[in-house]
Amino acid sequence: MAVVLEEKIESIYQQVKARNPGENEFHQAVKEVLESLGPVLVKYPEFSHHKIIERICEPERQIIFRVPWQDDKGAVHINRGFRVEFNSAIGPYKGGLRFHPSVYLGIIKFLGFEQLFKNALTGMPIGGGKGGSDFDPKGKSDNEIMRFCQSFMTELYRHLGEYTDVPAGDIGVGGRELGFLFGQYKRITNRYESAVLTGKGIGWGGSLVRTEATGYGAVYFVREMLKVRKDSLEGKTCVVSGSGNVAIYTIEKLNQLGAKVVACSDSNGIIVHEKGIDLDLVKKLKEVERRRIADYATYHKDAKYIAGGNIWEVPCQVAMPSATQNEINGKDAKTLVKNGCIAVGEGANMPTTPDGVKVFLDAKIAYGPGKAANAGGVATSALEMQQNASRDSWNFEFTEKKLDEIMTNIHTATYETAEEFGASGNYVIGANITSFIKVANAMVALGLI
Ligand code: NAP
Repeated sequence: MAVVLEEKIESIYQQVKARNPGENEFHQAVKEVLESLGPVLVKYPEFSHHKIIERICEPERQIIFRVPWQDDKGAVHINRGFRVEFNSAIGPYKGGLRFHPSVYLGIIKFLGFEQLFKNALTGMPIGGGKGGSDFDPKGKSDNEIMRFCQSFMTELYRHLGEYTDVPAGDIGVGGRELGFLFGQYKRITNRYESAVLTGKGIGWGGSLVRTEATGYGAVYFVREMLKVRKDSLEGKTCVVSGSGNVAIYTIEKLNQLGAKVVACSDSNGIIVHEKGIDLDLVKKLKEVERRRIADYATYHKDAKYIAGGNIWEVPCQVAMPSATQNEINGKDAKTLVKNGCIAVGEGANMPTTPDGVKVFLDAKIAYGPGKAANAGGVATSALEMQQNASRDSWNFEFTEKKLDEIMTNIHTATYETAEEFGASGNYVIGANITSFIKVANAMVALGLI
């Protein structure tokens, strides 16, 4: 039986690969989920009958469009825009927009696929989608960013709606970009439809805690994993990759819970500061002045900048990858474990390669995969939608408490599911199975759509 099932799942995976050639990140994300599903099909044979796995791997809709824009000198540029509306069985498509030169269909599809499971874990009524462009915001003026965002939204708006598809930010898309995107949506539609976009500014429909939510949430998840092991973050030495939105608020919450972060990074290099990263300085450099992390060392003579350095070689007890996909490979994972790392909480999406994940699981350290650990961002986006729907705005403490409860519930659900399916402490299996069952049940209930 087990062999037949394995063959069946392998054959579905081979079909996904053949139907989506060259989309390596998408293949990787699908394989990881499918590998968890054998016991689910034994318990729920109806999912096979309804071909749920085959259907769940095929996005409901994929939109690819031209984004022409003009730079400050009047030169014309053409980028490509994407929106993959993956699954709306439990709610409107929901997921961020990524602006980065590495973006192509395979990246957006992997992110959309991860998102649909992550969103199911939050317990909120949101389906999964993701979008973005191969546009590189780095070094562009505010006016160039605005013209690009306006052009992007001029196509995207027709696919959006509070009950249809609700984007947010991701790499390269923060408050500034979301402002320009929302402004253009409002201008084209003549509707102040707040809940069509999340991550909005506080003065125009945003939610308190949304900016902090992914980082804070990832730290809550690690806190819970350590609690099960009768341990805590107090006094732990931590390393956080990246220095963008997720990294900054991961560092902030780690500090608040008594841990010390000794390194962070950007795509050019790493900063190691044994005394503890000066978060106010990182915020100033990255959020306000949009500078490189290398400049940190000019303010702190006892900090070291290593151009092209590998952050996972910095010894730590807790590692929180918060930059991008596949940033920890098998060798990095081995280095982390050898240096005494006891917990990994993924703020980024799929930051660990499959061989790296195997190292963490074999070493039995507390490993929180992104689709569970970084769900706090989208969960708070759903809280933003709730506030928009009721024309209300909640205070910081109330909203943060809700985020904490959601992350604690995700931890409990994934932990208990792993136990139930005989994989104690394995949050990969716990997260994949919990979320798959939720979406699959909804898909069965809604009929063949
Ligand atoms: P962000 O604010 O744009 O920051 C991204 C950070 O990662 C920057 O420091 C960036 O350095 C670094 N980075 C990006 N691409 C890189 C690459 N190829 N190699 C090395 N470093 C790279 O983005 P973010 O919102 O923090 O997102 C970070 C991760 O969290 C992504 O995986 C995203 O999908 C995930 N995530 C975000 C949210 C959210 O609410 N924002 C929610 C869930 C998951 P440079 O500035 O040098 O590029």
